[in-house]
Amino acid sequence: MEHITSTPTIKTPAERFTGDVYLNLIEAPAEPAHLAIGLVRFTPGARTNWHSHANGQTLYITDGIGLVGTRDGHVMRVSAGQTVKCPAGEEHWHGATDTTLMAHIATVVGDGTTWLEPVTDEQFAQALASQTS
Ligand code: MN
Repeated sequence: MEHITSTPTIKTPAERFTGDVYLNLIEAPAEPAHLAIGLVRFTPGARTNWHSHANGQTLYITDGIGLVGTRDGHVMRVSAGQTVKCPAGEEHWHGATDTTLMAHIATVVGDGTTWLEPVTDEQFAQALASQTS
């Protein structure tokens, strides 16, 4: 048994995120499963770049209200207690709203995240206007 009393909070890199986003890595990918688990906290207005996961991703919202968007223009409004499953290879982004924090636990298997361009302010404004549950 190993009791890890704290993990460092890392500010995520600006080349992959817009705004202030903080990561606590709970599980780093390792043999045999290459499972990564992270608590990711987005401040208001902050979001990931567009990206995809080769093996998909599961997000469990732990706090606040946020948005998850896909290339077809669909934007989900998500809140604490909800789970979002991102299919393998689907380009998407996730983040806070403009006025609320959002935190989620993200789980990914394998190293297959492909990072793309930022979600522009115009795309973010459009997402805020078109969100559905
Ligand atoms: Mn993702």
